[in-house]
Amino acid sequence: MSAFNEEQVLSVHHWTDTLFSFTTTRNPSFRFRNGEFTMIGIPVNGKPLMRAYSVVSPNYSDTLEFFSIKVPNGPLTSRLRDLSVGDQILVSRKATGTLVIDNLLPGKNLYLLGTGTGLAPFMSIIRDPDTYDRFEKVVLVHGCRQVAELAYGETITQDLPNDELIGEFVSQQLVYYPTVTREPFRNRGRITDLLSSGKLGEDIGLPPLSLENDRVMLCGSPEMIADARTMLTGLNFVEGNQGEAGHYVIEKAFVEK
Ligand SMILES: Cc1cc2nc3c(=O)[nH]c(=O)nc-3n(C[C@H](O)[C@H](O)[C@H](O)COP(=O)(O)OP(=O)(O)OC[C@H]3O[C@@H](n4cnc5c(N)ncnc54)[C@H](O)[C@@H]3O)c2cc1C
Repeated sequence: MSAFNEEQVLSVHHWTDTLFSFTTTRNPSFRFRNGEFTMIGIPVNGKPLMRAYSVVSPNYSDTLEFFSIKVPNGPLTSRLRDLSVGDQILVSRKATGTLVIDNLLPGKNLYLLGTGTGLAPFMSIIRDPDTYDRFEKVVLVHGCRQVAELAYGETITQDLPNDELIGEFVSQQLVYYPTVTREPFRNRGRITDLLSSGKLGEDIGLPPLSLENDRVMLCGSPEMIADARTMLTGLNFVEGNQGEAGHYVIEKAFVEK
């Protein structure tokens, strides 16, 4: 049996010249925990060309959704960017990853800190009712360079509060904080700066991060992960993983080659 399922593209949405999302059919045998990633790709010269992708859609959805960068000359994304409805893609039969709430110790507030396509795994986590059972407040911070890159902003602020399953949780417990670094916007600056300066806490009305109350998930560029890790280690936060729950967990949104 092949390691991949063939799925059909159901919709494609281009956010900007460099970002797009698409949905596909979902083989009912494909199971994952919200926050995990899988391998997706297409056959090139008869061989599967696969890359890691976080699943955007929640695990109770009948379809799969992915949020993708378009890397100029990137082996996969320079092809994937031309996907159309009806095309086939390969999706691994398995999913894995560290950004799952079971890898976190109990806490009061959950901070989901993502840059760029690092938002992807958090889109499934904020649609999981379990997230709101475990935490009183869920703070989703999405950092980008430009306002147009703040994908899913309308889904989060307009669709999710009216969702049948999770609307009430979202309205009462989710705080969405988009921020940009390169142009004017209501929130400006890098995520780690906003945290260490106390600006984020001031804006959303929560105290500075504490070991007692707060748990953190990070998904972003290697640079953002390194800065956040230094900050959290300084607060005595311990990193969690599959084997042992901790105060924070990380996943790189991509790897520098
Ligand atoms: C655990 C994990 C989860 C991932 N989830 C996603 C996801 O949900 N969406 C997604 O678009 N990518 C994701 N990636 C990156 C993805 O696997 C590919 O690298 C990406 O699709 C580009 O593929 P490529 O073959 O075109 O270029 P590659 O040869 O894979 O990448 C070339 C270069 O492009 C840059 N790059 C790659 N991906 C990104 C990115 N997402 N943001 C900014 N710069 C990037 C890096 O500098 C990289 O070295 C993930 C990576 C990992 C390790």
